[in-house]
Amino acid sequence: MRLLLVEDEPTLADSIRRGLEAEGMSVDHELDGQDGLWRAREGEYDAIVLDIMLPGLNGYEICRQLREDEVWTPVLMLTAKDGEYDEADAFDLGADDYLRKPFSFVVLVARIRALVRRGLTARPSTLTHADLTFDPASMRCQRGDTSIELTQREGAVLETLLRRSPNVVPKHELLDSVWGMDFEGDPNIVEVYVGYVRRKIDRPFETKTVKTVRGLGYQIAAAT
Ligand code: CA
Repeated sequence: MRLLLVEDEPTLADSIRRGLEAEGMSVDHELDGQDGLWRAREGEYDAIVLDIMLPGLNGYEICRQLREDEVWTPVLMLTAKDGEYDEADAFDLGADDYLRKPFSFVVLVARIRALVRRGLTARPSTLTHADLTFDPASMRCQRGDTSIELTQREGAVLETLLRRSPNVVPKHELLDSVWGMDFEGDPNIVEVYVGYVRRKIDRPFETKTVKTVRGLGYQIAAAT
């Protein structure tokens, strides 16, 4: 497993690197944001561990630029508790997971392994179902010829449902994938957002896309 670590605190970076190497992973390390972005674009990595506050270019910007260039290497962001940014921003900009500092090393290793397992398939840029198309990178969403404006969060909900289609996505999995595993707010936020998505992609149209599977979750699937 080959990883890129972009972290500007030398002591922390060094201990992460040595710890990951002890787990049998091979780690390239950059201290600076610009160098980190360059390496992330050029190298073949299984995952990228990205600090947010970095000299040169911050982690959010690195992540956004990678996704814009269609580099889909899984990204785990390291966020500081009282950081300038919200964790939600990390997901909106294309990160796959985040870990709040200070974190336990065991958790870091587990999260990296989970990301690499999930991240093996390349993501198609446009997701479709019947007359619905959605491109998560550009946030372009259409039903037939009608353009639909989605917020980042609504887009993330729709993206998760489309990627898993025709499987049913349990509510808690939607919560983990859109709001992150450390989300501590009200889990009913999932229903609220599925409602927002439906209002935009289904209400004005004849056929309904997002189904509720009672007691299980939500599903986008062909009519049976
Ligand atoms: Ca930093």
